[in-house]
Amino acid sequence: MTASSGTFQIMIKCPIVLRYLKKEQNYLNVVFYSKLTFVSWLSRFLTCFGIETLLYLHISYFIICCSYHSFPSCCANSESSLTRLAPLEAVLFDIDGTLCDSDPLHYHAFREMLQEIGFNGGVPITEEFFIDTVAGKHNDDIALALFPGDLERGLKFVDEKEAMFRRIAAKQLKPLNGLDKVRKWIENHGLKRAAVTNAPRANAELMISILGLSDFFDVVIIGGECEHAKPHPDPYLKGLEALKASKDHTFVFEDSVSGIKAGVAAGMPVIGLATRNPEHLLMEAKPAFLIKDYNDSKLWAALEELDKAGAR
Ligand SMILES: [Mg+2]
Repeated sequence: MTASSGTFQIMIKCPIVLRYLKKEQNYLNVVFYSKLTFVSWLSRFLTCFGIETLLYLHISYFIICCSYHSFPSCCANSESSLTRLAPLEAVLFDIDGTLCDSDPLHYHAFREMLQEIGFNGGVPITEEFFIDTVAGKHNDDIALALFPGDLERGLKFVDEKEAMFRRIAAKQLKPLNGLDKVRKWIENHGLKRAAVTNAPRANAELMISILGLSDFFDVVIIGGECEHAKPHPDPYLKGLEALKASKDHTFVFEDSVSGIKAGVAAGMPVIGLATRNPEHLLMEAKPAFLIKDYNDSKLWAALEELDKAGAR
């Protein structure tokens, strides 16, 4: 059977196909659409030579897959623009993995201490296990996940691990690239700012102090001091309330799935930092967009747009 030149467009216009693509392609973007245009053009060309429908459907599927896997972080979905926040009022920051690359220090502390007590038969935990079970989560949940039959032991363990983390952090903690640049931008714009974290207060205050940000934050919100920690929106809602800021004029910086979910659930756009956690997992939590660090040109393009929108 020789296909008509419009077959591919009909396939793409079919509501079922579109629904599937939207579901699978959180990353639909300009590149993807331009590739569809290319496929449509190619289908017309191949039809002239009597090539069958199946062949160019295979080609289109291949190109769609390439788009999906090659461009996860450059996506631009409908939530990616920050311009609707103008005039911007406040910025909320997570701490671990967002202000500083602290996850390797947490991972090191967990791995050493768990191995010492013979967890997992004495086999060191993997980074994948750390990301799935620990990163961005509240200590009560971590204690329960590591010691499901003995919560008291789990809570004692995570307390001791936090003490070890603080000893390491005092010597090794470094700010994320570009943090100073974004700090100055926020100060120059006179914005309100809060740190919102699931870390214990002793950790949060130590990290903020090491990073020289004690005078920068107006308030520090601790997940464990709220009714619910992240991924519940409570800590971010409490942050907004403390700053007397509106969610409609505030955005969030976060680096974990749990944290992005909390910010999104609180009604704010979240800029995800792909510091350590895999981009495809972060994207599932629906950030506005992802950046590598605070020097990322995507961030500065979005902030420039926001400035322009505020000046109108
Ligand atoms: Mg974090």
